[in-house]
Amino acid sequence: MRTSTSIQSFPRWDDAATAGMDDAHLLLYRSNLLGSDLRITNYGGGNTSAKIWQKDPLSGDTTEVLWVKGSGGDLGSMRLDGFSTLYMDKLRGLKPLYRGQAHEDEMVDYLPHCTFNLNTRAASIDTPLHASLPYAHVDHMHPDGVIAIAAMANSEAITRQVFDGSVGWMPWLRPGYELGQQLAAYNDAHPGLLGIVLGGHGLFSWGESAKTCFENTVALIERAQTWLTEHRLARKVQVFGGARSVALADGARHATLARLLPVLRGLSAQGVPKLLHLNVSPEVLEFVNAKDLEPLAALGTSCPDHFLRTKIRPLIVPETVYALEGAALKTALSTLLASYRADYTAYYERCKRATSPALRDANPVVILLPRIGMVTIAKDKATARIAGEFYVNAINVMREANAVDQYVGLPEQEAFDIEYWLLEEAKLQRLPRPKPMVGKVALVTGGAGGIGQAIATRILTDGGCVVLADIDQQALNTVYTDLAKAHGKDHVRAVVCDVTDEASVIAAFDRAAIEFGGVDILVSNAGIASAAAIEDTTLALWNRNQSILATGYFLVGREAFKQMKAQGTGGSIVMIASKNGMVASNQATAYCAAKAAEIQLSRSFALEGAPLGIRSNVVNPDAVIRGSKIWTGKWSKERAAANNIGEDELEAFYRDRSMLKRSVFPQDIAEATYFFAAEHLSAKSTGNILNVDAGNLAAFTR
Ligand code: NAD
Repeated sequence: MRTSTSIQSFPRWDDAATAGMDDAHLLLYRSNLLGSDLRITNYGGGNTSAKIWQKDPLSGDTTEVLWVKGSGGDLGSMRLDGFSTLYMDKLRGLKPLYRGQAHEDEMVDYLPHCTFNLNTRAASIDTPLHASLPYAHVDHMHPDGVIAIAAMANSEAITRQVFDGSVGWMPWLRPGYELGQQLAAYNDAHPGLLGIVLGGHGLFSWGESAKTCFENTVALIERAQTWLTEHRLARKVQVFGGARSVALADGARHATLARLLPVLRGLSAQGVPKLLHLNVSPEVLEFVNAKDLEPLAALGTSCPDHFLRTKIRPLIVPETVYALEGAALKTALSTLLASYRADYTAYYERCKRATSPALRDANPVVILLPRIGMVTIAKDKATARIAGEFYVNAINVMREANAVDQYVGLPEQEAFDIEYWLLEEAKLQRLPRPKPMVGKVALVTGGAGGIGQAIATRILTDGGCVVLADIDQQALNTVYTDLAKAHGKDHVRAVVCDVTDEASVIAAFDRAAIEFGGVDILVSNAGIASAAAIEDTTLALWNRNQSILATGYFLVGREAFKQMKAQGTGGSIVMIASKNGMVASNQATAYCAAKAAEIQLSRSFALEGAPLGIRSNVVNPDAVIRGSKIWTGKWSKERAAANNIGEDELEAFYRDRSMLKRSVFPQDIAEATYFFAAEHLSAKSTGNILNVDAGNLAAFTR
């Protein structure tokens, strides 16, 4: 787990852990250690390098190789294969090819020609910076503390003051070949420096060994951080102009978010499904509740890493919107978003160049909610979460910079040139096509059961997010842990929910709204099975079946319907009924009647949902024995007894009873459910029933 509090000490080099490591592993150790602390560098930000002498596989000679963090990836979690490796002599040999700053982007195309040992890791845009500095080990970090200094109006003078002249300062220049040249020239002109602060960006530092480089980097960052804190405290400044309001109490915040977020999600989708991430950390609350929120937010973020992820400015939703509901809420949010998009488009038009890529999605990424916190929106959950982390970095920078001096964002044109950089665009174009469920959220009731887990797995496999809702806390924990491990924590949430309890169902959907922004898919699957002859069917047994299977399906369907309507982006409801809803089984009155109700319920949802693009369909399983908890209890005994066979013969019995002579597994139900859940597969199907029973003549739909 990464640390971000300032009271904690910075990570330290461990000689025992590094004993016997070769140069490449020492670089990896240093990189992971630096990346383990968000105060040293932000997620995915910064890079490290080492110039290592090693044997050339072609000539057998010893040659100098630049190992440098490759394009993409994160220092904290990278592995050895995250470094690109390049011949230093070839990199140095590029200099005569350089035609000047206006042509610096073409230098990137030469980098693959310098590859050492057929390494396929693409070299990053920062490679020339590392190559040009004459040190064996170089770090380029994005520490909040140093960026704060780099983003001050009097950055150069303050850099000199903080580091007593031991660290140089250069004005902002976009990363690339030119910056590499200028850094090297600056370094040559100022011998003996420990590092260089790059205005509006971050820190370059170095050392003659992996350890001394690490220690130098950390010492400089620690010094910057300590200096800032001491000066902020000494000046007794009111952070961000002081507090204007206090955070809403949990209940009010929760209720407001549950109402607002599905509308916000729907309005900002514009054809591409998006997911939301909420951040209510103390840093965020201090900022959104501050008197200077509006002017500071308008200044924009500084470090290129920040605004590439966050867009240059956030959207602020005024508190007056919180009290609105229904159409009034939609209109208010829609107006705010439209005005944000207009501003963003105007920024694009102002700054675009003849070769600029086309305008991208003009919707905000960061949305600040005074008294509540921050919501970030992106095409997937991890991107939304990380954008939020970056904005926290930006908040930290503004707080520290403004406490001592005056924070300045990057000039608009510079920010634009980074955002719409052709190299950045090429990176975006190279991204693989997203999986079909990316950006979609499914709430699966009975998600801790056999069929529910298989359905969740199917949706997660194609990139979707899942909220598992189940009454069984223990089973839920197990399934959540397994799925989060297999598909990543960002994608899965678990909520204890009793589908028979209205408040519990509403709370489950509120949770989905707060975690992801809403739901696109409901899989109503929670269930039980019961068997009893008519005279033995007690009212309690009847009511239990009705409450879970009929009322429960109604309640989750209704809440899903409301949320889908608020989003305004359609949706898919899939009811997992049963063959028994089509054709009654002997001695299962309560179960069969309730399952039939589910099928009719689905048709009602299909009817009322159609004008809203909300589809509703049914999947009817039969005899799914493996993995199902229903088949581990009384039902199994009763079915075996009713058919005069042993419990261990049930699977073969049902297989042989089917027309296709095949057993039905949870994965088969999952596949059918996925078909109805997925817009790209079944956009034109609603009010349908799909039997997955290996063939049963009596259950044929007609
Ligand atoms: P399962 O018992 O493995 O899973 C059902 C899940 O629903 C369980 O995790 C349970 O805790 C949960 N649940 C029960 N009551 C709940 C409540 N009030 N609120 C929330 N969650 C509750 O069974 P399964 O085989 O995976 O069944 C899933 C669905 O498929 C059920 O609706 C069932 O009727 C239907 N079905 C199953 C079969 C089969 O042969 N397995 C056949 C036809 C239909």
